[in-house]
Amino acid sequence: MNILKYRNIYTANRNELYEINNFLESIGDGWVNLVEKLSEDISKELENKNSNFKICGMKNIKNNMIYIKRKYSTKEIENIIHHFEIYTMHTCNICGNEGKYQKNKNNEFMVICDSCRLKDKKTTWLKYILNFIKGFLK
Ligand SMILES: [Zn+2]
Repeated sequence: MNILKYRNIYTANRNELYEINNFLESIGDGWVNLVEKLSEDISKELENKNSNFKICGMKNIKNNMIYIKRKYSTKEIENIIHHFEIYTMHTCNICGNEGKYQKNKNNEFMVICDSCRLKDKKTTWLKYILNFIKGFLK
């Protein structure tokens, strides 16, 4: 997901953007797609409106939910974010299918579906190795 596509609704602060990008790299595609949908929905909501709304951070709450740090929100946006939070609690972090809060193969609780739960160990390792390589290229 490219945050710059939704730059109107994201903070202009470089450090905050950097943190959000790091966050998006730390979660699976299932959850990244939810963040993308959230960004689209908020952008649509704010179309042709004069608003200072900004997303300035994201937090993974116990692998169970994504918390959106925001400012200058409106009732309509709060409603969109509320639904987004509920979706994160029921959507597989990895693949985006319906998931539930349960232990993965590494014995950590996360929102995951049954089929990803079985192959999670491999995915986690692959991510670890990819991040390790990325660290070298920085
Ligand atoms: Zn899954």
